[in-house]
Amino acid sequence: MWNTYVNAVSTDRVLEILSEERDKARIIAGATDLWLEMERGVCTGIETLIDITRIQGLDKIHVDEKNIVHLGCLTTHNQCAASKIIHKGIYRNRSSNRNCNRCRRGGNISDH
Ligand SMILES: Cc1cc2nc3c(=O)[nH]c(=O)nc-3n(C[C@H](O)[C@H](O)[C@H](O)COP(=O)(O)OP(=O)(O)OC[C@H]3O[C@@H](n4cnc5c(N)ncnc54)[C@H](O)[C@@H]3O)c2cc1C
Repeated sequence: MWNTYVNAVSTDRVLEILSEERDKARIIAGATDLWLEMERGVCTGIETLIDITRIQGLDKIHVDEKNIVHLGCLTTHNQCAASKIIHKGIYRNRSSNRNCNRCRRGGNISDH
């Protein structure tokens, strides 16, 4: 089970910890998956959890000059569903209502 919980405030700090601790450190975003995996013993050998939810700017959705939509890794399902950029009808909410404001797109992509 983990023994250090880091509330990271910059991506540089996250990368620093990951490069030092490698497989012993894991990013935690909404924790909807990781917490259950640790409780069930699916995820083992983790000593450090790096909470990224306080890092500013990772929950933004924007379109660049090439018309490519960028989803920050902390955007929630509900932020995507409400976004004018992500047009209604294109976005499909893949999660249960309970998780819509908590789980993040980054965790979802990493998880699948
Ligand atoms: C009851 C329940 C229902 C669910 N229903 C659905 C569903 O309908 N559809 C669906 O797709 N999923 C579903 N899930 C799975 C889960 O909720 C999603 O995958 C969710 O998006 C995970 O996001 P999180 O922020 O909670 O990730 P976390 O649990 O915090 O992290 C999950 C994994 O992603 C890694 N991670 C998180 N953020 C990053 C990042 N920025 N960079 C790199 N790695 C990262 C973590 O280290 C961890 O390995 C469900 C889970 C539960 C418990």
